[in-house]
Parts: sequence; structure tokens; C-alpha cells
Amino acid sequence: MDKINKRFIIQVILSIKDDTMRWPRSLAQFSIGKGAMSLPCLLCDEPQNNHHHICDTCWHDSLQFSLCHSPIELTQHPHALATMELKAIDGLCVPFIYQWPLSHLITAYKYQDKTAVRGALSAFAQQGLQQWQLAGGVGGNGEELSIDFNKAPDVWTLVPNHAWRWLKRGFNHLDYLQTMALNISNIKDVSGGITRTKHTHSQAKLTAHKRRKNLASAFQVNVDLTGQHILLLDDVVTTGATLSSLAQTCKQAGAVKVSAFCLAWARLD
Ligand SMILES: [Zn+2]
Repeated sequence: MDKINKRFIIQVILSIKDDTMRWPRSLAQFSIGKGAMSLPCLLCDEPQNNHHHICDTCWHDSLQFSLCHSPIELTQHPHALATMELKAIDGLCVPFIYQWPLSHLITAYKYQDKTAVRGALSAFAQQGLQQWQLAGGVGGNGEELSIDFNKAPDVWTLVPNHAWRWLKRGFNHLDYLQTMALNISNIKDVSGGITRTKHTHSQAKLTAHKRRKNLASAFQVNVDLTGQHILLLDDVVTTGATLSSLAQTCKQAGAVKVSAFCLAWARLD
């Protein structure tokens, strides 16, 4: 084993250490072997018996806190237009604002490997999809659309991770969105044919300009998207740089329309 591989493995081991001080008891103590119903509420530690491990009170409060009353179409939102990179993206819809508790749950899953929150994120994603469908988005049939979908998407993909990030996390942090996508009718999964070829640094602390530079030629499409309307799925959108980079690559591969669904909008002020 060469030095680089050894250093990488040590980093992986260090990165999965538990930071029990920051989390409720339920998050700190959860292990996969425990029964789902034995978990207290992920947000308040009170007893709960829901599949998403959030008690009824916290679930209700969470939706009040985080849910946009109707999904926001960011390609038409004045603030987004002023602050985001939306090149090649035809429609971008988000059902939630990135704030507590969603920010808490996404961080726990993405960066602290707290698998207990997967069910909660999946429930939020389902709720978001439902809101979007009610507003006439994917799978909807209304004319009063928040997104101008003349034609529902033909194919979908999760925004891909680079293989190194997969290896480090040991799982795909967007897998709960995959479950949600299976509930969209008549849409085909092309995730297997789209890869992230460039191991980009974490985007979280970069400026919009650095994000763009970081993401140049980051994706590769190995499926024919000629004439297709593709739906991209991601957890958080901030500047739109990642989605924009992927959208451009999809259009180079023949896609005629690129729409995106992101669970939450981290608004830049
Ligand atoms: Zn609770």
C-alpha cells in the first residue's frame, strides 16, 4: 500500500469519529442494529413512533418552519436571478428553505454520517414532491404551474458524486431522493450513465466565482440524451453552480430541456 493510500484511509477513519456533544441523544446513540421504534424523536428526544423518527409535534412545526407554501421556481425568482448561476437550467424548483431543522438533518447525513436521519430526509423529500405535484410540477396535470412544464421530464439523475467522495462516505448522501424519484411516473433513471469525473473541493465555503472554476468540466454524460427532458435531483442549491455545470454537460449530450428539483434553498444574502 503506498503512502497516499495509507494517508487516505487514516483520513477516512478520523472523519467518521462521532461528535456526540453536538447532537441530541437519539442522533448520537443511533446504530443500524437498533429497532426503528426505539429511537426517540430526532429533534426533541421525546418518544415517537413514526417511520421518519420525528414526533408529530416536531414534524408539524418543521413543516411550518421550513416549507415554502408553494414550491419556489428559482429561475423566475428575482433574488435568485440576481445571485445565482442558472445557465442551461430551464426550471429549478425547491420546496424548502435551508434552515432548521432541515439544515440540521442534511448536515447530519451528509457530513456526520448520521444514518438515522435518512428516513426523515426521505419524508421531507416526499412532502416536497407532493407540494410540487400539487402545484402542477412533475407528474401534475394542472395548467396553473409554478414551473412551465409543457412536457414532464423523460429521465432523471441524482447529481453525481466523484468516486472518492463515495468511498469516503461509504454511501450516496442523496439516496433518499432516489426513493422519491421512484414515485414519479413514466420517468427513467439515467444516473448510471452520468459521472463526476473531477474530484472537486467542497463547495460550501467557496465564492460563486470559485465554485464555477471548481466545477469546469466536472461531469461526463455517457448516455444519449438526444431530445430528452432531464430532471436533476440535489439536496441543497446555493449559487446553482453545480447544477448549471451539469445542465450544460447534459445539453451537450443532446438534452433539450433541463429541470432540477432541490430539497432546500440556501439563500445567499
Ligand atoms: Zn420531537
